[in-house]
Amino acid sequence: MRKPIIAGNWKLNNNIQESVDLVTLLKRELTDLTGVDIVVCPVSTALSVVQDLLLESNIDVGAQNVYWEDSGAFTGEVSAPLLKDLGVKYCIIGHSERRQYFGETNETVNKRIKAALKHDLIPIVCVGEVLEERESGKAFDVISKQCEESLAGLTEEEAKKLVIAYEPVWAIGTGKTATPEQAQEVHKFIRDFLRKTFSDAVADGVCIQYGGSVKPDNIAELISQEDIDGALVGGASLKSEAFIEIVKQSSNSTQVTRNGI
Ligand code: PEP
Repeated sequence: MRKPIIAGNWKLNNNIQESVDLVTLLKRELTDLTGVDIVVCPVSTALSVVQDLLLESNIDVGAQNVYWEDSGAFTGEVSAPLLKDLGVKYCIIGHSERRQYFGETNETVNKRIKAALKHDLIPIVCVGEVLEERESGKAFDVISKQCEESLAGLTEEEAKKLVIAYEPVWAIGTGKTATPEQAQEVHKFIRDFLRKTFSDAVADGVCIQYGGSVKPDNIAELISQEDIDGALVGGASLKSEAFIEIVKQSSNSTQVTRNGI
């Protein structure tokens, strides 16, 4: 049984005080939950303070990007060993905003994934089609290419450590959510890709999150789908009440499923 992961992507929001305030509330309200893994991904300037506050808690910390070289003349970049040095556990890689505004490609995503894995960071690899691609019936081709090129050259052991986030770009920050059926169809497609490319163990073990306008009023239906194992949450992760509610509903859903086994 896959344990769901709910990750909050704070994007370029929250200064240090705001990060401390948000994390303090999350820690207080989510401390007893065990049916779900919880991650927050603050801006890089708040990583250290958030990591310190969450030491020995049930909430892990993720970065929003990572460079593929360990060190050197790469002004402005942050590397995997430096994130590891801070105690960070996860790293979002290939978010559509990085692809759209910062020239991220499947090839650079692949390099970042390999660097993260080499230093024991768990990559949250984002894939997803834009509206035009969905409307022209190309969504599955796009996702297939993103998976193939982004995960090229990984061993089975490496692939087992991935988290994949399916984020239809047309649903990110727009208030439009994929229907649970639309999302499930793509999640199954990605799981089949993992089965074909790596093994049953990879396909059955890898957590595939959904991302795109996840809120307290749509998480239950999304997460009840067979191949949806959690969520990458943007806007709603900035509001403590909404994020807490999303996490709690996801934890309840696991318990129901587990009891039903
Ligand atoms: C995201 O940033 O990954 C995201 C899914 O954003 P939102 O939840 O705001 O759509």
